[in-house]
Parts: sequence; structure tokens; C-alpha cells
Amino acid sequence: NTTTTIKRIALFGSTGSIGVQALEVIEANPDKFSVEVLTCSNNVDLLIQQALKFKPNIVVVSNEEKYKKVKDLLASTDTKVFAGERALEEVASMDVYDLMLAAIVGYAGLKPTLNAIKAGKAVALANKETLVVAGDIIMQTAYEKRVPIIPVDSEHSAIFQCLVGEVRNPVEKIILTASGGPFLGRKPNYLVNVKRDHALQHPNWSMGAKISIDSATLMNKGLEMIEAKWLFNLKAEQIEVLVHPQSIIHSMVQFEDGSVKGQMGLPDMKLPIQYALAFPKRIKNDFPRMDFKKIRTLTFEEPDVKTFRNLALAIEALHKGGNLPCVMNAANEIAVYAFLRNRIGFLEMTDVIEETMQKVSFLSRPSLQDYLDSDAEARNYAADLIKL
Ligand code: NAD
Ligand code: MG
Repeated sequence: NTTTTIKRIALFGSTGSIGVQALEVIEANPDKFSVEVLTCSNNVDLLIQQALKFKPNIVVVSNEEKYKKVKDLLASTDTKVFAGERALEEVASMDVYDLMLAAIVGYAGLKPTLNAIKAGKAVALANKETLVVAGDIIMQTAYEKRVPIIPVDSEHSAIFQCLVGEVRNPVEKIILTASGGPFLGRKPNYLVNVKRDHALQHPNWSMGAKISIDSATLMNKGLEMIEAKWLFNLKAEQIEVLVHPQSIIHSMVQFEDGSVKGQMGLPDMKLPIQYALAFPKRIKNDFPRMDFKKIRTLTFEEPDVKTFRNLALAIEALHKGGNLPCVMNAANEIAVYAFLRNRIGFLEMTDVIEETMQKVSFLSRPSLQDYLDSDAEARNYAADLIKL
């Protein structure tokens, strides 16, 4: 079958690290994808450039103060311009696209993504926080609407790829690999003095600021454990983290016969992005190929959860469930942005998250509204602690 239909993509968070790389993939495959929606919060200069190049049907800037600039600069085009958080949610529900790439960072991605699913749109999910906050609701809605959620996060893409063709074979456990981040092997006496610019330097991946800090604290791996629980319908005990500093094996699945499948590749987010956009097909590309003779050694070690206590907190949230992951996520977002503004130290991020998790009331079976309320309560509590 050589006829291909063009998949219409809505790229939510197009100006971010994932968004920009997704546009490179789309640009290289004009016979497969078109860009229908682009969105950003603040970087409207880049949004405008992207819109002039890709000629989307709609752009949305969530920061309403920037509406006029975008409107003026796109006045001579056919692109419609909307602004505000509400517009972001409404456009997600519109019947103008086939697949949403959810690449907004943080809790802000939840409502647009949920609306896409409710509207029956396929979702390529980069925004892991959406599943951490309300994974049960997201997955249940996707199930009811028969909507596929295809992971973009490299570890989850790896597991997803290992599971293709295994629908009837139960998973014994998954092994999420972690690079260990820029501070692998460091101890608290070192971490206490770490500053933002150092924490932003990741050894293997170049990413947005928030996920870079999460990688340095290992919170990212904790968020990914919770993300994996929902995506692959696993119990907490079935999810193991393994530090693998070379980032070649992107994650592994162990089946009930003890056989282990892993997915490998050079660390390049364009691979999982392109896989999610094109699934179930693979697209030929000319990215650099792996040379095992040059890599020579792959190493593995246990994560140091005594030093990187954010991971221990996330494991606790994974086990307890309810609104605890949502509360943890909110406190983490506040703590990370405070650290990025040099308001608190590296280790203080953990203290803020831990105390917020203890103080916000626990709900075992939250509704969507409960999640929204827990998020707000946790943000306020964490911000008070930091005196923001
Ligand atoms: P980024 O900070 O580079 O980009 C974030 C995007 O979201 C931007 O387009 C920004 O305008 C938009 N945005 C930010 N806040 C917003 C708000 N309040 N409302 C609406 N839009 C908002 O982030 P990123 O590194 O591209 O990461 C995006 C998501 O993908 C995150 O959830 C991250 O965990 C996940 N992810 C990223 C990578 C990576 O390599 N960057 C890898 C795996 C997963
Ligand atoms: Mg990842």
C-alpha cells in the first residue's frame, strides 16, 4: 500500500525543546505530516517564525499580553490567532487535527491533553506531568474514547516498542534506565552548593530547564515511574530503576519467562518523537547510527536514593497513589522554579516537596476537581514555605 494520508498535527508547546525537534521531524517528512496548530506561553518571536514557515490553521499564545504582537505579525497570513489558557483548552477540542503532540511542560498540559482525548484525538505524550497528576482519569478517558496514547518520553517509547507484538504476554517487570544526571556519584556535601547553571548541564540530553533540573535531582525518574505505571497498567512493584550512564539502552521489559527486551539507540529525542508521530510505521532517516565498537562498554548501577531523596519521595507517591503524586508534582514545580530563580538551594527543593506531601490532606480516590484543588493547595503551601 503506497497511498499515504497526511497526518494533521497539533503541536502544543511548539517553542520548547520537544516542540522544536518535532518540527524538524515534520519538516523532513512533508508527505506524512502537516502542522495545523502551534502553541506557546511566552516565546512569541519563535512562535511567529514557526507560523510563517509551517502555515498552521491556528496558533495559540497562552499569555494574553502577547496576543496583539502575534496577531499583528501574522495579519497578512491565513493563520487564526487565539490567546489565553481557555483558548488552549478550546483549540484542543476542535476538529482541525488528527494527533496532538502534548509537549507543554508541567501541570499546564493537563487540560488541553484531556480535551484532546475527549475529542477522540490520538495523543503523542511528552508531557509526563499530565499522567503524574491525573493518570487514572487520563487513561480511563482514553480507554473509553478508544484513543491511543503514544509515549514520547524516551524510556516509555522504548518500553512501548518492546511491547509491540506482545499483547497477550504479561509483563513481569520493566526496567527504567536513568542516566544519573549531571551529579551522578555526588554526595549531599557537594550538592548543597550546586547552582542552577551547573544543574542545567545534562551529560547526554539537551532539554528544557524544568526537566533538566528534574534530571539532576532524579525527580524526573520518579515522575517517569508514575508515568509508566499508568501507560502500561503496572503495579508499583513491577517498576525498577537502573542507572545506566551511557543512555544507550533506553529501557527494558522483562517477561514472565525471564526474557528481557530492550530498545537501544543514540540519545536523540527526535527518534522517540518521530516514532510516536508515525506509529505504527517507522520512518527512514539519516540520523547518526550507533557504532557498538566505539561505545564498547555499557554499565549499570543502583540509584542512590539516600542522596537523591526526590526519587525516594516519588517512589512513596507511586506506592500510596491517590492525590499524592499530584501534590508532589505541584510542590516540585514550585521548588524547581524557585531553584531556577536562585531562591532556594538544590537540597532545599526536596525539603519543600517532602513537607508539602506531609501537609496537604491525602485523598485516596480523587475526582478531577480534587486533583485541580490538590494542585492549587500544594502550590500555595510550597510557595509559602519558600516565601515566594
Ligand atoms: P520546554 O520548557 O523546552 O518547553 C515547554 C513548552 O511549553 C514551550 O513551548 C512553552 O511555551 C510551553 N509552556 C510552558 N509553560 C506553559 C504554560 N503555563 N501554558 C502553556 N504553555 C506552556 O520543555 P521541554 O523540555 O520541551 O519539555 C516538554 C515536556 O516534555 C515536559 O513535560 C518534559 O518532561 C517532557 N519531556 C521532554 C524531554 C526533552 O528532551 N526535552 C524528554 C522527555 C520528556
Ligand atoms: Mg525520559
